[in-house]
Amino acid sequence: MKKIFIAGKWKLGGGKPSKSYYPADHSENAEISSASLDDVDEAILAADAAWRHSDWRDTLPSEKATILFKVANLLEDKKTFLAKLQTRDNGKPISETMGLVNSAIATTRYIASCLETLDNELTNQRIKSVLTFTTYEPLGVIAAITPWNSPVASEIQKIIPALAGGNAVILKPAEATSLIALELATIFEEAGLPAGLFSVLTGKGSVVGEAIVKHPLVQKISFTGSTSTGRHLAHVAAEKLISTSLELGGKSPTIVFEDANVDIAVNGVIYGIFSSSGQACIAGSRLFIHQSIYDKFLDALIEKTKKIIVGDPEAPNTQMGPLVSEAHLNTVDDYVKMAKEEGGNVVTGGYRLTGENFDKGSYYAPTIITGLTNQAQICQEEIFGPVLVAMPFSDEDALVAEANQSVYGLAAGIWTEDYRKALDMAKRLEAGTIWINTYKKFSIATPFSGHKESGVGKEKGRLGILDYMQTKSIFLNLDETPNPWCEVK
Ligand code: NAD
Repeated sequence: MKKIFIAGKWKLGGGKPSKSYYPADHSENAEISSASLDDVDEAILAADAAWRHSDWRDTLPSEKATILFKVANLLEDKKTFLAKLQTRDNGKPISETMGLVNSAIATTRYIASCLETLDNELTNQRIKSVLTFTTYEPLGVIAAITPWNSPVASEIQKIIPALAGGNAVILKPAEATSLIALELATIFEEAGLPAGLFSVLTGKGSVVGEAIVKHPLVQKISFTGSTSTGRHLAHVAAEKLISTSLELGGKSPTIVFEDANVDIAVNGVIYGIFSSSGQACIAGSRLFIHQSIYDKFLDALIEKTKKIIVGDPEAPNTQMGPLVSEAHLNTVDDYVKMAKEEGGNVVTGGYRLTGENFDKGSYYAPTIITGLTNQAQICQEEIFGPVLVAMPFSDEDALVAEANQSVYGLAAGIWTEDYRKALDMAKRLEAGTIWINTYKKFSIATPFSGHKESGVGKEKGRLGILDYMQTKSIFLNLDETPNPWCEVK
C-alpha cells in the first residue's frame, strides 16, 4: 500500500484507501492509502510552522533556485519513469505524457530562473519627505488541488511558483491519479526542500480536499478542475476571505475561415479535439466551418479522423488512448446519445471501440457530429471526451455571437491566412487563450487563464510567483515634519 507524505515523513494515511487502475486494461496499478482528518490537520500545522519559522521565506533567491533546479534535474533523470507512471494512471499516450513531464521540467527551470529577477517596488515618491516602498511576502499555506487529466504538469505549475514565493504547499491530487503526486514528494525530499514545506494528502475531494480548503490556516486555494467544484471552492474561499486561483472547464470554439490552409487546419482541428481523447480543458469541441468550404472540409476531417491511431497508450506511435474510466466512457456515450435525440447526425465514431486491442479497456471512437446548432445541450456542456460538433457559418457577426454563446471562455482556435481578420477575431472572442493557425501550444512564460466560468485568476508567466504572495507597503518618514495633530497644542 502506498504511503502518504506529511512534512517529510511517509506514513499510512488513516483514511479509506483507494486504488489506481490502468485504463487500457483495468489492471490494478497500486493501492493508495488516504489521509484522515487528523492527517490533514498534522500536515497543515507542520506547513504553517515551516513557512513561518523555517528560513525558507528569507532564503536567498539563488539558494531557493538551487533547490528548484535540483527538482528539475531529478524530474529530468526520472522523465521516462514519470511519463510511464502517468500513462498507467490515466491512460494518456506515452508521447503526450513525455510532453507533460517536459513541461513540468521547463516550468521548474523557468520559475527558478525568475527568482533572481523579482524586484520589490520603489513606488512613486509623491510625498517628498516620505520614502515609500512595497515588498512582497508569502501568503502562508497554499492548498493545491488538481484533476486527473494532466497531473504532472498541473501539479508542478502550482507547487513551484508557490514554493518560490516562500509558501508551504499541501497537494491534494485527484483520487484516480495520486501516484505522480507521491513521486513528486520523493523528488522534493531528495532535492533537499526543508520538511513541512510540501505534503501530499491523497483521498476523496469531498472529504480530504474539503477538510484542507476549510482549514483555518490555509491562505489560498489553487485549484484546477471542474467548474462545479471550482464554484464550491469559491464559496469556501469567500467565507474565509482568502484568495483563489481557479482553472476550470471549457467548451472551446474553433473557427475555420474560407481562406484557411485546409490540410494544416484539418490536422490542427483534429489534434485540438482528439488528443488526450478529448480529456483536456482546452479541447476545441465546437467547430465552426465557413459555409463555402463546409462540405470539403468536413470530408477531409472525417477521412483524417478515421486514420487516428487509437490503441495501446504505451506504444510510441499511439495518438489516442482509452478514456480514464468506464464511468467516464458511459458519460461520453450518454452525451452522444443525447446529441442523436436532439437531431444530430453522427458522421464518424459514436461508439465504444471493441475487438482484441480494445475489449479490456475504456476505448471510445473519435466522434464527429453534425446537424446541430450551438444551442444544443451537447454544444453547451463540457463532455471531456473525443466528441466534436461541426457547424457551418456564413456571417461573421453571427459567428462571433455563437462562438461566445457559452458559459465558458477558456480557449479558441482561428484558422485563416488573413492575419488582420485573425487578430480582429482574437479581440472579439471571449476566451483566455486564442490560438491562430495552431492549437494547444503553450509557453510557461505566457499567462494562462479562463474567462467567464472557465476560471478566476491566472497561472504561469514571470509574475506567476506574485500570485502566491501579498504586498506590504512601507512608509518611512525622512524628515521631522510632524503629523497634522502634532501641531494641535
Ligand atoms: P473535479 O472538479 O471533479 O476534481 C478536481 C479535484 O478537486 C480533484 O482532486 C478532486 O478530488 C477535488 N475535489 C472535488 N471536490 C472537492 C471539494 N469539495 N473540496 C476540495 N477538493 C475537491 O475535476 P476532474 O473531473 O478531476 O477534472 C476534470 C475537470 O477539470 C474538467 O472540467 C476540466 O475542464 C478541468 N480542467 C481544467 C483545466 C484548466 O486549466 N482550466 C485543466 C485541466 C482540467
